[in-house]
Amino acid sequence: MFSGKLLKWYAKAQRKLPWRTDVKNPYHTWLSEIMLQQTTVATVIPYFNAFIKRWPTVQDLCSASLDEVLTQWQGLGYYSRARNLHKCAQILAKGFPSTEEDLLKLPGIGPYTAAAISSIAFDEQAAAVDGNVVRVISRYFAIATLKPTLEIRERVKTLLPTEKNGDFTQALMEFGALLCRPKNPLCITCPLQSGCQAYMQGKTENYPMKAPKRKLPTRYATAFILRREDGAILLRKRPLQGLLGGMMEVPSTPWVEEKDQADWSGPIVRHTFTHFHFEVRVQLVTDLEAVEGVWVYPQDLKNYALPTVMKKIIASGFNKESLHSFVE
Ligand code: SF4
Repeated sequence: MFSGKLLKWYAKAQRKLPWRTDVKNPYHTWLSEIMLQQTTVATVIPYFNAFIKRWPTVQDLCSASLDEVLTQWQGLGYYSRARNLHKCAQILAKGFPSTEEDLLKLPGIGPYTAAAISSIAFDEQAAAVDGNVVRVISRYFAIATLKPTLEIRERVKTLLPTEKNGDFTQALMEFGALLCRPKNPLCITCPLQSGCQAYMQGKTENYPMKAPKRKLPTRYATAFILRREDGAILLRKRPLQGLLGGMMEVPSTPWVEEKDQADWSGPIVRHTFTHFHFEVRVQLVTDLEAVEGVWVYPQDLKNYALPTVMKKIIASGFNKESLHSFVE
């Protein structure tokens, strides 16, 4: 039986991860699931540990300011997650809903996360479908469709055990991460091999089907590092809504898809966001005109919520020693 074999494998093979030490604590499960969206386990571990150390309960997180949360989140990317985390903590501090339906009403919680929290923290029967699960199930049932998530959710529902639903959800994702990997799945040692249709066809690499990659556009801008005589540089806060909302930045021209005719021979920073590449010409300015913002000394930059792209821009205008390695 699928779930029996999977749970047996998980009992032996699961990794020790910090959010698994107290899986029935919905705060830990929620925090880790939000952090793990589009982010690797290795990247998330130190952030998760730092959040739990600083804010041991959801009530503690609820009383933190948005700036504090964004600063603690810096480097993890997809900053709308941090804004929603802060918003959601205000609600969750009064009590955690346990059902998928109620969790779905919360900011930043979509179908996958609702099902994951509901099953892992509350042992509810819920089908959580992430990229790992799509891969395992589409191979196991040889599902050859381009957007298979809904079909896969229905398949997973038929596989749910009557108990240990939290373990089942984690096991399926862990199985995709460790055994049924995107490349070179370990079919030889796989406990599900005898029922796996992709394996029987000898075509594991055909599943899941992949849409052709689209070419990302490039946006261009000129960023200005305004530097005072005493070394402080000027930062300003981005609007709360939109890309990198609420994070700090150095002033720049609008980010546009037309490259201007100016001289691009100085420091250039390149960064890739989900939907576009970004190419920035960096200019150091000491001839200061009044611009609204906050003056920050290099050694204090770590106390501000700076996204990675801004760290790269600032670092390009200095040597690392003078910035006290804040970009590390
Ligand atoms: S046999 Fe291979 S492709 Fe099939 S579930 Fe196991 S690891 Fe994945």
